[in-house]
Amino acid sequence: MSTSDVAIVGTGPNGLAAGVVLARAGLRVELYEAAETIGGGLRTAPLFDTGVVHDICSAVHPMAAASPFFRAFGLADRGVELLHPEISYAHPLDGGRAALAFRSLAETCAHLGPDGPRWWRLMSPLLQHSEGVVDLVLSGQRSLPRDPAVALLLARRVAVHGSGLGPARFRGEEAAALLTGVAAHAVGKLPSLASGAVAMLLGHLAHGTGWPLPRGGSGRIAAAMAEDITAHGGVFHTGCPVEDLAELHGARAVLLDTSPKGFLALAGDRLPRTYARGLERFRYGPGAAKVDFLVSEPIPWSDPAVGRAGTVHLGGTHAEMVRQETANARGVRTREPFVLVVDPAVTDPGRGLPGKRPVWAYAHVPNGDPTDPYELVRARIERYAPGFGDTIIAHRSIAAASYETYNPNYVGGDIGSGAMTLYQSVARPVPRLDPYRTPLPGVFLCSSATPPGPSVHGMSGYLAALSALRHCFGIRSVPSLTPK
Ligand SMILES: Cc1cc2nc3c(=O)[nH]c(=O)nc-3n(C[C@H](O)[C@H](O)[C@H](O)COP(=O)(O)OP(=O)(O)OC[C@H]3O[C@@H](n4cnc5c(N)ncnc54)[C@H](O)[C@@H]3O)c2cc1C
Repeated sequence: MSTSDVAIVGTGPNGLAAGVVLARAGLRVELYEAAETIGGGLRTAPLFDTGVVHDICSAVHPMAAASPFFRAFGLADRGVELLHPEISYAHPLDGGRAALAFRSLAETCAHLGPDGPRWWRLMSPLLQHSEGVVDLVLSGQRSLPRDPAVALLLARRVAVHGSGLGPARFRGEEAAALLTGVAAHAVGKLPSLASGAVAMLLGHLAHGTGWPLPRGGSGRIAAAMAEDITAHGGVFHTGCPVEDLAELHGARAVLLDTSPKGFLALAGDRLPRTYARGLERFRYGPGAAKVDFLVSEPIPWSDPAVGRAGTVHLGGTHAEMVRQETANARGVRTREPFVLVVDPAVTDPGRGLPGKRPVWAYAHVPNGDPTDPYELVRARIERYAPGFGDTIIAHRSIAAASYETYNPNYVGGDIGSGAMTLYQSVARPVPRLDPYRTPLPGVFLCSSATPPGPSVHGMSGYLAALSALRHCFGIRSVPSLTPK
């Protein structure tokens, strides 16, 4: 039995964001985490060498840099330094070529030849209204847009680039590949309106608030959030899986940083049948299969400029990525899947030691795929960086099917906590006016299975906490989140 006002199950970025808000509202908050360490998708740990740490899940933080929650929380003021690579992301192509998204929009356009002016016209208006675009997408998606002009600006671009009309607007392979590589972050069929929205959001941020890496790894973000919760009286219980909601009896509000599948297991037969059926019908997306490498030197990219990028997309041309991602979404494994690669020491040299550096990579694979991804990922990198295999000192791979053992929220390896379709972007996890409030009195969902969806932005936790404050405690004011 819990003696606190609030019990939070799960300490991913959303559970932590909820904890920050509720502890700062003066409530007694207890957080329960199944794993031995807090953080969920924000864990950083040594895997092969005590001096070299690896990001186990998230590594790059365009959303944390831009999200309304983290803007108010103030990561920099809490000692979390977001480091910006000169090139936000790169996209190697065959023949030693690469498309490059510099932080500078002008420099990006200068490298895109005849497509430079088109890239400028696509991204520049979004950048001018960046805060409005971010606030619109990273919202609970239940209110009318504050600025209809921003909504129209975004909607027109999403309609074009989410429908297959987009690539025809570019003359060269580079610009089309650059944009489709970002759209592929939606992890699903290409093109789609959801992938178009992701491309516009992440694509313009690459030239704005950036795609930074926290100095020392993603765990620094979780540590800053945990410190704030503890400073406001919150208490953490790690190595403490919650198996039934009855264990939390006594807390006036319970917030679940869990998947819909996890919620069903915790609730047993307490849920009304219609709501439970909605959760059962929730669709999970394709999986991620990760490989962490310890390598002896920087990745030997054929185009050395790729080695200045924070993130690298390996997917080939626009047409190749459409084939890979669409097959994958249908559950068909491809020989050359879309792979994301980060060599964190490029941006944060302190992450490496002489002759040792971490490399983070994952492939998009079908949901539940049991295959060890090592060979697949190694070969994919080798195609654009011949000799990479010779630099590998050690590796650890996690198949999509095994991710769920590591974190029960990643059902079948779906790291997005639900397929990113247009419908599920809004109706996450079931269609409801308040998506965070469940039919069980005092029980709220706060994970990325609720709007605005996956990534480290803290907004699902923040919005769920506001709902809990209103409905369980009659508190309508939003506590200040700024560091004291
Ligand atoms: C390989 C990989 C790469 C990624 N890369 C990026 C990236 O670069 N940038 C980015 O923004 N995002 C990235 N993501 C996605 C990001 O990590 C997630 O979207 C985010 O962590 C979701 O946050 P969350 O709080 O909803 O859940 P999670 O971070 O999944 O946390 C949920 C927590 O709840 C705990 N839990 C669940 N059930 C229970 C229970 N019954 N009892 C107790 N504890 C429980 C889990 O152990 C876990 O710690 C990546 C994810 C993965 C796996």
